[in-house]
Amino acid sequence: MPNNIATVAYIIAAALFILSLSGLAHPKTSRRGNLFGIIGMLVALIATAFHLNASGWMMFLIALIPAAIIGATLASRVKMTEMPQLVAMLHSFVGAAAVLVGFATLLDPHAQLAGSELLIHNIEIYIGVCIGSITFTGSIIAFAKLHGMIGGKPLILPARHLLNIIVILITIVLGVMFTQAVGDHDMTKALWVLGIATVITGLLGVHMVMAIGGADMPVVVSMLNSYSGWAAAAAGFMLSNDLLIITGALVGSSGAILSYIMCRGMNRSFISVILGGFGAAEGTAVAVEGEHTEIKVDGTVDLIRNAKSIVIVPGYGMAVAQAQHTLSEIVKELEAAGTKVRFAIHPIAGRLPGHMNVLLAEANVSYDIVLEMDEINEDFPETDLVLVIGANDIVNPSALDDPASPIAGMPVLEVWKAKDVIVMKRSMASGYAGIGNPLFVKENTKMLFGDAKKNVDAILTAYRTG
Ligand code: NDP
Repeated sequence: MPNNIATVAYIIAAALFILSLSGLAHPKTSRRGNLFGIIGMLVALIATAFHLNASGWMMFLIALIPAAIIGATLASRVKMTEMPQLVAMLHSFVGAAAVLVGFATLLDPHAQLAGSELLIHNIEIYIGVCIGSITFTGSIIAFAKLHGMIGGKPLILPARHLLNIIVILITIVLGVMFTQAVGDHDMTKALWVLGIATVITGLLGVHMVMAIGGADMPVVVSMLNSYSGWAAAAAGFMLSNDLLIITGALVGSSGAILSYIMCRGMNRSFISVILGGFGAAEGTAVAVEGEHTEIKVDGTVDLIRNAKSIVIVPGYGMAVAQAQHTLSEIVKELEAAGTKVRFAIHPIAGRLPGHMNVLLAEANVSYDIVLEMDEINEDFPETDLVLVIGANDIVNPSALDDPASPIAGMPVLEVWKAKDVIVMKRSMASGYAGIGNPLFVKENTKMLFGDAKKNVDAILTAYRTG
């Protein structure tokens, strides 16, 4: 493929990636966004493949075919609730790729740069390898935490901030040594220094994510997403590949913007998240003062029948139980009976941004009744009944009225302001942040214990037959 055609193909691919991102911003257009992304990637792959000679083709196919099979199998098997782990794992690949590209570029026998061009090239290599290494190890730890292989509790080492600063300073010193060694054509020393920097920044990645706990994990996944983008952009500079630079910058900046939006959603500063030390183990019972009131399915159906307006708050438990399809049926029945039903979506409900929106869209719930937190929070005082389904942290009043709470200041859905609240979960156990929830013992709250799917199935049957 002549160079100018490849350039046009790269521009088309870049435009398709931008269209993909804008499409993915809303559930209505997300399928189209996905399609643009797939076509963009195909165009990029074809344009890249046409540059190759025979042995290049061989390597290309050897890498591409098994990777495509493994990727398609993993993606089709992964449960929606395990998506963040998969994303974290994929980020680790980008990080590893940036490290490998860095070493390969350094060892490239065809490199013919000199003077300031060589210096800039070496800085690109060094930065790319360091960001790649942090992304690689940080993503692996994020994967292990999200998958429950490592506890969610933050690891707080003594003087950890000082430790991080020392590591960053050592990395800068090593960077200077690296560029000097390459400038002096001392490749053995350059390789050693780059190797040490890879290990040190890898340890920094481990430490940074180990120190972040429970409720901050969404921000970490999105932050690693951003890092992986910058690592890819750095690899693009090393390989002089414009498309990789553009794609990396798109991923890097969109990940950074998403992290910022999430921090705002949790009322936490980005810096305090990065510095870590927040949250505790999930699923432990944490005592709150007061007695909870239990309700059964029949009682729940009675309250539903008497309510004129109902708000449903889905959370992680709804995703685990896969209760969204039955819920969608219940909503249809209620709407047919003239009840006003809406869903309230917290920005960090579930285990990944947009988790609930995707599940509800999959269950054909109309977008018009799915409202974001800011759109619905003021409506709770006029709501007859709130059904909290498998949600916990996102409806925890202590975020607003207990300054000592680990989630103090995080905006939450103020469901307790409604006339009645029914919380469906299996026990009094904590949610992801590992803290007690005073909502469960409020006077107007009733607990319907059991698996969310079994309970909503029973509610639908009782509602239809009653
Ligand atoms: P939580 O994790 O706070 O609570 C979920 C609740 O669901 C649990 O308390 C659990 O209680 C219940 N549950 C689990 N399985 C079932 C089931 N089968 N049937 C019924 N209930 C069930 O979830 P939220 O959605 O309220 O909050 C999200 C939390 O996850 C936040 O802390 C957020 O920071 C964090 N997070 C969010 C990410 C994101 O991007 N959205 C990513 C990573 C973390 P029980 O065991 O008693 O049933």
